[in-house]
Amino acid sequence: MQNWIKYKSKKEEDCPFCEICNIIAKNSLAIPFDDKYPIAEDHTLVVPLRHTPSFFDLDSHERNACLSLVDEMRQMILKKDDTVTGFNIGINDGIDAGQTVFHSHIHIIPRRKGDVANPRRGIRNIIHNRRSY
Ligand code: 5GP
Ligand code: ZN
Repeated sequence: MQNWIKYKSKKEEDCPFCEICNIIAKNSLAIPFDDKYPIAEDHTLVVPLRHTPSFFDLDSHERNACLSLVDEMRQMILKKDDTVTGFNIGINDGIDAGQTVFHSHIHIIPRRKGDVANPRRGIRNIIHNRRSY
C-alpha cells in the first residue's frame, strides 16, 4: 500500500490503540484486535492505523480497509463459534455518543440466542426512553 508510511507515521502519544497498532501492524491500513473489556465473547475492535478520533476523518482507503476487516472478522467468528447467531456492529463517534478511546474504531459484538432477555431493537436501546418507533 503506497500511502502506508504516511499513515503509519501519524501516531499519538498515550493512545492505547496507537501502541497496539505499533506492535502488530505490518502492512495494512487497519487491524483487528480483541476488546480488552469485552461485553461478549469475541468482542472485537477494528482499528485504523492512523490516529484520528472520528471515523469520518478517515479517507476512503482507510474506511474500506476497516469495512473489509469487519467482514473478515465476522466470517472468522462465525466459523469458530456456532453459537453466534447475530452481530451488533457499531461506532461511538464523539464523547456525547459514548466514545471513550479517541482513536476511531468499529465494534464487532457477536450475539447469541438468549444472551439478553429481550434483544429486540438492538442498538436502539442505547437511548432508553427513545427506543420505540
Ligand atoms: P469506545 O467507548 O471508545 O467506543 O470503545 C473503546 C473500547 O476500547 C471499549 O470497548 C474498551 O473496552 C476498549 N479498550 C479500552 N482500552 C483498551 C486497551 O488498552 N486495549 C484494548 N484492546 N481495548 C481497550
Ligand atoms: Zn491512537
